[in-house]
Amino acid sequence: MTRKLFVTTALPYANAPFHVGHMMEYIQADIWVRYQRMAGHEVHFVCADDAHGAPIMIAAEKAGKTPQQFVAEIAAGRKQYLDGFHIGFDNWHSTDGPENHAFAQDIYRALRKQGLIAIRSIEQFYDPVKGMFLPDRYIKGECPKCGAKDQYGDSCEVCGAVYSPTELKNPYSTLTGATPVMKSSEHHFFQLSSQRCLEFLQDWTQTPGRLQPEVLNKIREWFATDDEGRVGLADWDISRDAPYFGIRIPDTEDKYFYVWLDAPVGYLASLKNYCDRTGRSYETLMADPSLEQIHFIGKDITYFHTLFWPAMLHFSGRRTPDKVFVHGFITVNGGEKMSKSRGTGISPLKYLELGMNAEWLRYYIAAKLNAKVEDIDFNPDDFVARVNSDRSASTSTSPAVRPASSPSASAGI
Ligand SMILES: [Zn+2]
Repeated sequence: MTRKLFVTTALPYANAPFHVGHMMEYIQADIWVRYQRMAGHEVHFVCADDAHGAPIMIAAEKAGKTPQQFVAEIAAGRKQYLDGFHIGFDNWHSTDGPENHAFAQDIYRALRKQGLIAIRSIEQFYDPVKGMFLPDRYIKGECPKCGAKDQYGDSCEVCGAVYSPTELKNPYSTLTGATPVMKSSEHHFFQLSSQRCLEFLQDWTQTPGRLQPEVLNKIREWFATDDEGRVGLADWDISRDAPYFGIRIPDTEDKYFYVWLDAPVGYLASLKNYCDRTGRSYETLMADPSLEQIHFIGKDITYFHTLFWPAMLHFSGRRTPDKVFVHGFITVNGGEKMSKSRGTGISPLKYLELGMNAEWLRYYIAAKLNAKVEDIDFNPDDFVARVNSDRSASTSTSPAVRPASSPSASAGI
């Protein structure tokens, strides 16, 4: 039987070019998609830029651009990476596209109709100079435990303490240096704590074959307690106050969807854009019971994709994902995190500019990945050895990668 597959990778945040972690995910999904196509199945493979949120709004302002211009410039740089590593998405779109505005607002309206949206007043730090509420990452101060200066609003890099921004001593806004004040505002919450959501998610997550065993174990922990030790899931704050670069919440003047509300909706928006562009019917495709919806993601965004996303879809009357494939991170030299400042890591563009063959990296990554949620390590020496030995074992007698000319063997590329 021919399978009909709607496949996505996670949407990259449009504030920077791709790094090798993105390429690893695209290579994994691209290989899987090629395999399905070779087996005769029908595949629609789409992605998009995740365009909204405070970090992009602030970065654009610093660069003297509108958020739309800023995002468009990042988007224009995507093609060289995707073509360079032979990644064959059928469509690339943006979460700021009109399809996404319409879908996100429709989903919100449906959730509200279901009685799953609550409006509550909450208090948050507000920058009186900038005139905006401050996300935690834009608040710094002295650590309440050890007193170290210039620590972020959520944790101390010196002593490792975890706290909330209101516990910081002498807090200041990193945008203006002003002392933030507490201010209250009405926020919209998706009631994930409701019995209906809990029952649906328990059933959805435990459907055999939908999630990897490690992912399911993690979810069982989330169902049990949250970070504050409360039993069950917490409601999800889905609104942000203006100024914010995002999608306006229907029937409000100054509230926008939190970027994580509309980001996964971008999967549907990109598919809709692709269908319209290629003369297909999005509605017919999505209504087909044989269609399988499959997401490839990294482990850091599991919560969003296995709780918020299926619940949003289900309670707005839409189909839910059939499978979510979670992978680990790519590290360098035996488990270090990639770091630009330390010069470790692999720049995908630099790799191509040096004339290295994209197939070598595709092969290396494919050979290291498996079905588990494990980190994989990129080690330059191992890369050279593996590509050379496996290549010569199959087709060639001469080494594919020559260490003498291979910068990967020295500094990070
Ligand atoms: Zn500290």
